[in-house]
Amino acid sequence: MTDDRPIRIDDDPTERTDDHEPLLSVEGLQKHYPVTEGPLQREVGQVRAVDGISFEVRPGETVGLIGESGSGKSTAATSLLYLEEPTAGTVTFDGEDVGAYGRAERKAFRRRAQMVFQDPTASFDPRMSIGESVTEPLLVHGMTDAERRRAIAEDLLERVGLSADEFDRYPHELSGGQKQRAALARALVLNPDLVVADEPVSALDVSVQAEILALIDDLQAQFDLSLLLISHDMGVVHEICDRVCVMYLGEIVERGPTEELFTDPQHPYTRALVAAVPTPDPDAPDRDVTLSGDVPDAASPPSGCRFHPRCPQVIQPEQYDLDQDNWRAVMDLRMAVADRDVDRQSLRELAVAEGVADDPDAVGEAGVRTALREEFDLPDELGDDAADRVLSAALEDVAAGDVAAADERLADEFGTVCEREDPTEQATEAGHPAACHLHDETVANKGWEWASVD
Ligand code: ADP
Ligand code: MG
Repeated sequence: MTDDRPIRIDDDPTERTDDHEPLLSVEGLQKHYPVTEGPLQREVGQVRAVDGISFEVRPGETVGLIGESGSGKSTAATSLLYLEEPTAGTVTFDGEDVGAYGRAERKAFRRRAQMVFQDPTASFDPRMSIGESVTEPLLVHGMTDAERRRAIAEDLLERVGLSADEFDRYPHELSGGQKQRAALARALVLNPDLVVADEPVSALDVSVQAEILALIDDLQAQFDLSLLLISHDMGVVHEICDRVCVMYLGEIVERGPTEELFTDPQHPYTRALVAAVPTPDPDAPDRDVTLSGDVPDAASPPSGCRFHPRCPQVIQPEQYDLDQDNWRAVMDLRMAVADRDVDRQSLRELAVAEGVADDPDAVGEAGVRTALREEFDLPDELGDDAADRVLSAALEDVAAGDVAAADERLADEFGTVCEREDPTEQATEAGHPAACHLHDETVANKGWEWASVD
């Protein structure tokens, strides 16, 4: 590696950003995709991939965007870079509204804000040498001097841990890790201020992930970049980010300084993500939170808090004080009944497996009710007479084949603020905000107590 400053194509100090202003500011960003049907491609709905997110990246800062697959992270990246037009919202870059840019300004923006993708193989043309690929952006942006292009690229190849000899090699001659290094060189060749890296190590062998991550961290400092690092992997984000935004189903649910967010997560979703990170410590406390199921369909997101169908801490109705696991079990039954996802025939088969009868046809309504309790981890008693009466009646409805009646009964009795009201970001004791009713003073009966995750 050379230790002089990187060669820059135009080093204009007046272009540098004031350190106190965010370099990138995203406000109320939305990206909805139409869902179409039939030969006329009639629009029947919208996928709300990104549904109103706001955050900032300051100069020289590394911000992480995390969330499970399907949360809308990639869509957030491509729309904030205007690689596709956002549905709504404002993106401000270095004090200017990117949405109002004309063609020339867009081109300049593309130079200053680069993206690195997950799959390094797909991002290289197999017929072009690494050097041609890395220098192509320089050519596109008007640098006609081939020798100068080559000098810049060779310098960069060395800075990303390759050698200048790699200039004349072809993508198939490089390993995945080497290709991702070359992709970083190409992203840096136009001397950008911002790099958006979307899952930059997810496609690589585990053995090289740490290396590439360390390189990204190193390049960020060396080039004084603002970096938006997108990953579904908490470990990746933990490693190099200053701050983290947690995304779930198109929304940011929690944000804060990395260390604080990892040691003291304030949203049950973040808590579940953090708890799922494998820990090398065999004496670590029991992980009491697990995330079941997948991210719901962004074309019909759940009402209220979008996480409530999976949330271990979903809030109980005011009149109850049930064991939280039992309450979650009741909610799981409620969700399945609401989705008409309870099938009597499979419940009869389950009852047979449980030894209730020898033959599904011989399983009566009582057997179906037993199977339902088994299937949804419902205890024989919830410990509250009123709740038990409603639950028993609902199980009878299902066993008798009247799922609609069960649905109505359960919805009437077991409603939660989490499904009724969309939580706004609330201040928390940890010091950073989270969008969860558990932190809303006006919401009653939270019965909330959790130990910090370490
Ligand atoms: P992530 O990167 O967090 O995995 P994505 O941004 O890729 O999430 O996707 C978010 C949601 O938007 C998903 O439900 C996905 O299916 C949907 N989606 C992404 N791109 C499109 C598209 N071009 N058309 C329709 N739906 C899309
Ligand atoms: Mg993605």
